[in-house]
Amino acid sequence: TTLPLPANEIVRAYAPGSTERARLKAALTTMSGNRASLPSIIGGKAITTGNLETAVMPHLHAHVLADAHLAGAADVKAAIDAAKRAAHDWSQTGWEARARIFLKAADLVAGPWRYRLNAATMLGQSKTVHQAEIDSAAEFADFLRFNAHFMTRLYAEQPISAPREWNRVDYRPLEGFVYAVTPFNFTAIAANLPCAPAMMGVPVVWKPSPNAKLSAHYIMAVLQEAGLPDGVINLVYGDAEMVTRIVLDDSGLAGIHFTGSTGVFDHLRREIAAGSYRNMPRLVGETGGKNFTLAHASADVDALAIGVIRGGYEYQGQKCSATSRLYCPRSLWPTLRDRLVDEIAQIRVGDVRDFSCFMGAVIDRRAWSRHAEAIARARRDSSHTVLTQGEPDDCEGYFTPPTLIETQDQNSPLMREELFGPIITAFVYEDARFDEILGDIDQTSEYALTGAIFAQDSAVLEHAQAKLRYAAGNLYLNDKSTGAVVGQQPFGGARASGTNDKAGSLWNLTRWVSPRTIKENF
Ligand code: GLU
Repeated sequence: TTLPLPANEIVRAYAPGSTERARLKAALTTMSGNRASLPSIIGGKAITTGNLETAVMPHLHAHVLADAHLAGAADVKAAIDAAKRAAHDWSQTGWEARARIFLKAADLVAGPWRYRLNAATMLGQSKTVHQAEIDSAAEFADFLRFNAHFMTRLYAEQPISAPREWNRVDYRPLEGFVYAVTPFNFTAIAANLPCAPAMMGVPVVWKPSPNAKLSAHYIMAVLQEAGLPDGVINLVYGDAEMVTRIVLDDSGLAGIHFTGSTGVFDHLRREIAAGSYRNMPRLVGETGGKNFTLAHASADVDALAIGVIRGGYEYQGQKCSATSRLYCPRSLWPTLRDRLVDEIAQIRVGDVRDFSCFMGAVIDRRAWSRHAEAIARARRDSSHTVLTQGEPDDCEGYFTPPTLIETQDQNSPLMREELFGPIITAFVYEDARFDEILGDIDQTSEYALTGAIFAQDSAVLEHAQAKLRYAAGNLYLNDKSTGAVVGQQPFGGARASGTNDKAGSLWNLTRWVSPRTIKENF
């Protein structure tokens, strides 16, 4: 039996006067008015340790939204024990019973919990209403529904048998537990990283980003309401180094499901290499990016400008897939540059509770300082020109303005380093050098997550995508570099961008099973 292919959850508009807008506004008011207490959830129980860490609104950082109870070492050990205890029953639970829980969770996400999830994501992570809706409502529900479908497709894959024998594969859940380490930038990813292994029958210890504590709380609440058994996913707020140390020291660690920085993933990988485990842990990670948009002289400038603005500045450039380097031919540059500068000047940046904002704040002071420093560096350096006006301002919120920088130096650090913010660096190439530019982009793509090529000449698209074969795991032709949809564009990259196991795909789910082959003679 396979579950039918689901449809993607429809993205809602929250138009003025609509009921959905009123309900979301009500959730925003309640949530910003009540300072919530966020317990860790271990073995199904709320654990209040009294060791508190605040969650603030990035666009108004004096405003405390919630206090999370940080787990101590003993709590982390308890979470590992709870996962191991849950493994006994959960690993033997049939797929129908597992799917039922996650499919019900998807309906709760798309239904009654939608407004709370969106409100938590808007307030805690400074997403605009549209950015929250495509993430914590649509993508979250999609991950659960599509993974349930992919799980059944995987199970249906069985070997052939010769006469008088019967061969079969038993898709055993990994033995042990998985450690999920999740990012602030997508609530859906924070949900998917623990849910995908759990769906496949493997219990999880989950450490959310300290910058997404409120939405993590609501993710867990939805899963519990959907009937997830105690201990299958254990939510642990706590000091990253301490939690990680204890988890990596446990011989039952069966895998890591990670989204975050390349540096941290690399560190985990090395630590695991030096550790000692009953099974060799699976490493599944999506890390950084320095995503390109390449314009060809035949590009449609309107589509290109929209692609650059949306790809570079939506969610303040904090998607792993965000466009951060632009290659434009000399012949198009004056038109494109003026167009971009005009559009950027009109972008509204502010408190996301004002629904007319296109951008909110960046996640925290550290991110803000990194951006401010990069912009200042560009201003000082004679080979760079900052083409936009806005100034970084962190008085009330962590606001980095949408910034466009032109560089004369193709190898500038601004063309290579991940800034994870609303900053695009553009390099203008001579039209005749298009072929060389393809080679240069491939060469300088230490990261290889996403890329976009704009050209109306289809022979150019063919040639460019062949030459850039390894420069991106998600390549967009005449579209922006962001916005992968579950079931439509399986997402992930290689090189320094990760293990490329494609979030929300059958291939990802294969990483959480350890197949056993059984041959029986009749
Ligand atoms: N899937 C997202 C997109 O395509 C990006 C995921 C990420 O930032 O990790 O926009």
